[in-house]
Amino acid sequence: MNKIVANVRAAGVVGAGGAGFPTHVKLNSKVDTVVANGAECEPLLRADRYLMTRHAHQVVKGLRLVMQATGAPRGIIALKREYGEALEALGAVVRDCSDIRLHLMKSYYPAGDEFLLVYDATGRQVPEGGIPLEVSVVVQNVGTLYNVAQAQKDVPVTHRWLTVSGEVREPKVLCVPIGTSFEQVISWAGGYASPQEELALVAGGPMMGLVVSPTDVVTKTTSGLLGLPQQGPVVSWMTRPLALAVRRGRSTCDQCRDCTDLCPRYLLGHELQPHEIMRSINYGLDWPTSIITAAVLCCECRLCEAYACPLGLSPMLYYREVKRQLAEMGWKNEVHRRKEYAAHVMREYRHVPVRRLVDRLGLTKYVRMAVPSDEREYVPGVVHIPLKQHIGSPSQPVVKAGDKIRVGDLIAAIPEEALGANLHASLAGVVRQITEGYVVIERE
Ligand code: SF4
Ligand code: SF4
Repeated sequence: MNKIVANVRAAGVVGAGGAGFPTHVKLNSKVDTVVANGAECEPLLRADRYLMTRHAHQVVKGLRLVMQATGAPRGIIALKREYGEALEALGAVVRDCSDIRLHLMKSYYPAGDEFLLVYDATGRQVPEGGIPLEVSVVVQNVGTLYNVAQAQKDVPVTHRWLTVSGEVREPKVLCVPIGTSFEQVISWAGGYASPQEELALVAGGPMMGLVVSPTDVVTKTTSGLLGLPQQGPVVSWMTRPLALAVRRGRSTCDQCRDCTDLCPRYLLGHELQPHEIMRSINYGLDWPTSIITAAVLCCECRLCEAYACPLGLSPMLYYREVKRQLAEMGWKNEVHRRKEYAAHVMREYRHVPVRRLVDRLGLTKYVRMAVPSDEREYVPGVVHIPLKQHIGSPSQPVVKAGDKIRVGDLIAAIPEEALGANLHASLAGVVRQITEGYVVIERE
């Protein structure tokens, strides 16, 4: 293992923009291109833009380190054309670099999806159901690159930059210790701006995020925390029970195909047609099965339900449930693996502009609010650090109750021979408790 990869592994770096895949594993591959994902396509989120603007040097340094580790002669930073300040800051850093270029994207949703991003930035099509490595590309979120650069200075991942927005008094981008409760983070943003009982908390963005409890905590992959109206479209979609969605789908889907015609994966050329799964499930047809198993190609961007369907139906929920059942059955995807396919001729014209999506989601008022960055150091009284914040096995505690620790000390390690990530203390204090899922640290 080369030194860059070893440092990234030791520092517990995981994919900051997605499900938390351990970064050192990705860095152990050989590719010809590294793409930095700065698209930040979820409405309301701003933390990646902040990092690209204020820490452009660190982001580019992280990109260079990943290029070095993977042997890639080329680096591309993909971000939206409208990210003026970030564009300026990154442009100044890479001005004299012959091996790194900026790729400017239109503001469409979901521009940050890996398949779309790789196609837009390099012209290469990742095989259906595959990963960018198969076309000699590694994609890293800009937040991950920032952490990669920190890892080379022996600074582990202990904090997370995230956006707090929606119905809060002081929307902002701030840096918080991992394991901090969401209710504590909301209080650092001035508290709720509307009665709490009328709101739901969403972790992540309004499209792909999840409704969470105030006692849940910030992890390495928490990109945002939003206070949104319970009765608004975002929360209603996120909490709609599957049975209700199927009942409505059965009685109202008129097979207009709008969900298919705007599905970003279909437009990229994947064999995924959401109107077909509606038909199959609504009418109890389970043939041909490839219509059902195409669920594995759905990236759960929610565009079909939140924007495309005139009736607000949700092919995505159908696909999600099918994926769950296929995983339970141990089904392996050997069907949807096409390597050669072409993007739809209308793709360019069918992108969904973020501006229009925001309007449809009822979020225009929040998008217009100023979201300044807050450089203060926030220190909670207690953190509950989850042992599993990444893809792979949970980390194994290496501390015990009563131990005194400092910020950055290793508290849980990757189990031997397993895929995983190290965890470090985000708060100086005493280990109060180790449960099956958490290490609890109290400030002294
Ligand atoms: S857009 Fe809605 S109504 Fe039209 S086919 Fe898709 S799910 Fe059915
Ligand atoms: S969520 Fe809907 S629009 Fe998005 S990829 Fe899946 S089927 Fe297509």
